[in-house]
Amino acid sequence: MKKIVYQKPGMAAEERIVLKAGLHTHTTNSDGKFSPEEIITMYHEAGFDVLCFTDHSCTNKVSEYDGKGMTLISGIELHPIGPRNTRWHILAVGVPEDFQHTHPETGQEAVDRANEAGAAVFCAHPYWCGFTPEEVMTLRNILGIEVFNTSTRYIGKDFNMYCWDACLDAGKEYTAIAVDDIHNKRDFCGGWTMICAESNSQEDIIKALRQGYFYSTQGPEFTKIAVHDGMLEAEFTTCPAAVLVGRGAGSGAVISIENPDGPGTYSEVSSIKRDLKDCPRGLFRIQLRDAQGRYAWSNPIRNPYIW
Ligand SMILES: [Zn+2]
Ligand SMILES: [Zn+2]
Repeated sequence: MKKIVYQKPGMAAEERIVLKAGLHTHTTNSDGKFSPEEIITMYHEAGFDVLCFTDHSCTNKVSEYDGKGMTLISGIELHPIGPRNTRWHILAVGVPEDFQHTHPETGQEAVDRANEAGAAVFCAHPYWCGFTPEEVMTLRNILGIEVFNTSTRYIGKDFNMYCWDACLDAGKEYTAIAVDDIHNKRDFCGGWTMICAESNSQEDIIKALRQGYFYSTQGPEFTKIAVHDGMLEAEFTTCPAAVLVGRGAGSGAVISIENPDGPGTYSEVSSIKRDLKDCPRGLFRIQLRDAQGRYAWSNPIRNPYIW
């Protein structure tokens, strides 16, 4: 089992297990091409530890499936009326198998009901939906958004970093998951969420999601994300590019870790150790990009320094 050292500001360092999770999947129970059993086999063989079924407006009887050692979670994708007569895509990870989608329902009512049912709730693929950051931020009590969604890459709207950063800049401490949103084979294994949990029980997985103990990736991995004694420390897969992404363009808000030969060039890096005084202000995040162009995204870190 993979491990990570995770330390939030003001908390003790913890060694946690890292669970490779597929949190957004469709099956033949809605508009997916594969049966639940086929989905389980595919993700099991790809080394996943956690799989959440999130069919459109309906749940799955995950307790009756053989998870092949993976933790199977009952979830749902909800579609209440959204801004400008569109529909929200609300991802609820961890609802009872008899959870019902009701109509009519506002986005907020859907979020509230999913939260009351014990779910970890995210706004799915805002770019694909055409939602502005301001519209996303009208939803109260979501944990965050999908920063990457494999199924939307075929229309070029797979990355949601702009929406995420706009929300962070506005002070919303949103976390972000990476998901496949698998409907067809082409959606398989483009991005996933690494959940840093105390165990692989559903309860501990949902707790880790709610508390922000996870990161998202297309490949690169973190082995340490720690803030202590005014320092940021991170260790990760060796990458040609690792940046601290924060508010605005000035005052060193975006920091390249290495810049040996002028702008746009990087030497390989596998760790960061930096005084928070030299990190972006407000909420900032660590973003990795490996030699194959695959990203990993930490959740946001709040820098206590104002200037
Ligand atoms: Zn969707
Ligand atoms: Zn979906």
